[in-house]
Amino acid sequence: MRTDDNIIAGGITRRQILCALGAVGAGVVSIASNNSGAAPIVAENQVPRVKLGKTGMSVSRLALGGSWDIDQEVLALAFSRGINYIDTAEDYRSGNSERGCGQFLKSIGAVGHSPIRKKVWLVTKSYFHHDLDKHLPGSLERLGQEYVDCLYMHRIQDAKLPLDPRVKETATALKAAGKIRYFGFSVHDQPVVECLNAAADSDFIDVIMFRYDCHYYPREDLMKAIDRCSKKGIGLIAMKTQVGAITMPDRIDPFKARGLNQRQAAIRAVAIDSRVHSICSEMTTTEMITQNSDAFAARVTVAELDAIREHARMVSHLWCRGCDSICRTAAGGPAKNLAVADILRFLMYHEHYGKEEHARELFAALPPSARDMKLADIADWRAAEKACPHRVPIALLLDRAKERLA
Ligand code: SF4
Repeated sequence: MRTDDNIIAGGITRRQILCALGAVGAGVVSIASNNSGAAPIVAENQVPRVKLGKTGMSVSRLALGGSWDIDQEVLALAFSRGINYIDTAEDYRSGNSERGCGQFLKSIGAVGHSPIRKKVWLVTKSYFHHDLDKHLPGSLERLGQEYVDCLYMHRIQDAKLPLDPRVKETATALKAAGKIRYFGFSVHDQPVVECLNAAADSDFIDVIMFRYDCHYYPREDLMKAIDRCSKKGIGLIAMKTQVGAITMPDRIDPFKARGLNQRQAAIRAVAIDSRVHSICSEMTTTEMITQNSDAFAARVTVAELDAIREHARMVSHLWCRGCDSICRTAAGGPAKNLAVADILRFLMYHEHYGKEEHARELFAALPPSARDMKLADIADWRAAEKACPHRVPIALLLDRAKERLA
């Protein structure tokens, strides 16, 4: 029998989670005590919530990215810290991410149209952009849910999709059927700016998840596109925010002074952009949940803000933004076949996210010609580096990729 005192995982009770969700008792921001001298019902340093644009839904500023083998203890801790936002996808771990998330939601009673379910923001995604209606039932079954709060077209690379009438028709029909509440997309690579602008021109995109970290701050075209979406009330979710974090400890003194490590500083550096409602982070351990949640605990100071801007100006050229064809076309010859953007992204997973094995697996899964690093050796990357809009030192990074991934 399920009671509020049931341990969900990691010693965290259902009552603690429901209190943090605001589904019972003390609500989200206050700290309730059970008056017994035992641990407080709601953990300290709760992640704050915001209204997610025109959806009006209250979501945590930190979202749990689910592209890993879901661990119930990690989810329980995340929810006890005030996180109420789960981001998964049909392809993550061959559906096991959705199954793991569904298992957790069921354990706390967040199913059907229950009051608890309504406190959770659940997103799933599909790569089948023109067959979303055929793929959603599988996701709902794995999640054990009657609906998701938002369905994304996963990783779009075509800025026409947010304006496509067929997509709009499907999204509208799924909403009318009560299978989704809102609709949106995720965009990892170029054309991020074009996709954001298309969403601002569209009338059926509610939420966007896009790649964004503080190194993008000097980019005026992206800033304007974010402004346009923000003014339209589109929910904006940042992902991959900790890229470049490893360069921060030596440079961001105001963060060090507050005892924040480089990953916390990187999250905080994006959190200062109030147009961004939430930051989606793949937190696979309880330590990551604690660290990232703690990063939201105090207000950002002016000194931090100035330091972030200066840091972004100095190092923003060090990361590939995934526009893909520009550098390959400029390099010409056989280098055209090399998956430069993918390889540099996997290098980022290896060096910045500490996911060495995962990065090597992804690299090994590329078609042989796309990961033939002999091509990288023989190509002349000077023209490509000149053509790269971010002045990425391509040859240098490919050398590192060869050493770490191949
Ligand atoms: S190296 Fe530059 S041009 Fe090539 S994919 Fe990355 S950001 Fe784009």
